[in-house]
Amino acid sequence: MSIVLGAIADDFTGATDLANNLVRAGMRCVQVIGVPPHDLALEDVDAVVVALKSRSTPAPQAVTDSLAALAWLQAHGTHQIFFKYCSTFDSTDQGNIGPVSDALLERLGGRQTVMVPAFPLNRRTVYQGHLFVGDRLLNDSGMEHHPLNPMCDADLVRVLSRQTSHSVGLVSHEVEAQGSRAVREHLDHLAGQGVRHVICDTLDEADLEILAGAIVDYPLVTGGSGLGQALPVEYRRQGWLQDVTDAGRLAPAEGAPLVLSGSCSRATLAQVEHFLASHPGYELDPLALAEDNGQLEDALAFARTHLQDADNDGPVLIYASTTPERVKQAQKALGTEAAGRLVEDAMASLARTLVQEGVGRLLVAGGETSGAVVSALNIQQLRIGHQIDPGVPWTQAPIAGRAAPLSLALKSGNFGEIDFFTRAFEVLK
Ligand code: ADP
Repeated sequence: MSIVLGAIADDFTGATDLANNLVRAGMRCVQVIGVPPHDLALEDVDAVVVALKSRSTPAPQAVTDSLAALAWLQAHGTHQIFFKYCSTFDSTDQGNIGPVSDALLERLGGRQTVMVPAFPLNRRTVYQGHLFVGDRLLNDSGMEHHPLNPMCDADLVRVLSRQTSHSVGLVSHEVEAQGSRAVREHLDHLAGQGVRHVICDTLDEADLEILAGAIVDYPLVTGGSGLGQALPVEYRRQGWLQDVTDAGRLAPAEGAPLVLSGSCSRATLAQVEHFLASHPGYELDPLALAEDNGQLEDALAFARTHLQDADNDGPVLIYASTTPERVKQAQKALGTEAAGRLVEDAMASLARTLVQEGVGRLLVAGGETSGAVVSALNIQQLRIGHQIDPGVPWTQAPIAGRAAPLSLALKSGNFGEIDFFTRAFEVLK
């Protein structure tokens, strides 16, 4: 098998975001969780996105993990490697965008790579090397207060120069306005001067297409998921992609529908409330879970009753989602980490048991909650299906002991419209 695009993503939801864009642009795609075993059975796909947790780890660890992902992708025969990071260039002076790009490029033997973080659809643009979020410069967008990687400088040439010993250049919008060939000539000129990393201006989708045309033969490209929208067009032009009518087609979904929500983000709270107005739900409380007073067994019994009820073929919700005040209360009583862990462990255990008992369509709300469920179910790969709402596709995962794959949607906190928990299951039909 040969993979056209092999992506190494520095976090889980970023990986899904890219995978979702690739499918929408017509590539069949699988997301793998961490570096998979060498003999992982893969379906016939055009793209593989390896989801790492390397955004905020120490740079040497991020480099080691990224090189391991690269080795796996190379062993499976990959045309182009894509290092995917956040559209707000989340990093610090120590890394990890510079060190990881340096290491990947060196291992691939390339002389130059590009940095294309922009995602114009989400109003992340780059002009004269400066990153904008909407109409604000990056350092005035709220990102300057990020707890892990505060972004206090919008000049990406300068930002990246602090993360690498190699020289960093720019392809400006003026050059892009002259088309892909002019961009390539400029890149070659910079390469001749020893410029290894090139920040690329991007104002709109047209700029992404022009860039994709100039770099389709680069062994390594880097950027946000916006570039993932533009590359497939070029791959098709090169004749690298098979003609498939529906890249997001999954096997028919089988099994009962369940929603598990451990997200307390504002969008999720509205989705929970909307769902409960017309569907059954059971609320978990970390304080009760801590007392071990049988709440988990109660929740299981509740889910079983509803899922076995022949008159009810709609989804059932089990949730710990609650207001910021009640979250704080639980955190004060139990400690923030312990409260979170109690809820995550409960969700993981519910998922394990209920999937064994016949749940086949599972929606999980919450990034950390999703991580806990995915690892409880021992999931190594997700085939990416159709989008429910921007950034959140249905996926399918093979599960040991189940004939049909599990249909799984993993929604991070603030994603999705208010009717997400019900509409998701409609989309699947
Ligand atoms: P999001 O994507 O919205 O940030 P996450 O699942 O990533 O959601 O994070 C939510 C965290 O809050 C998880 O660790 C979860 O276990 C925890 N949590 C959920 N419900 C409660 C609650 N009622 N009290 C305290 N912590 C909670």
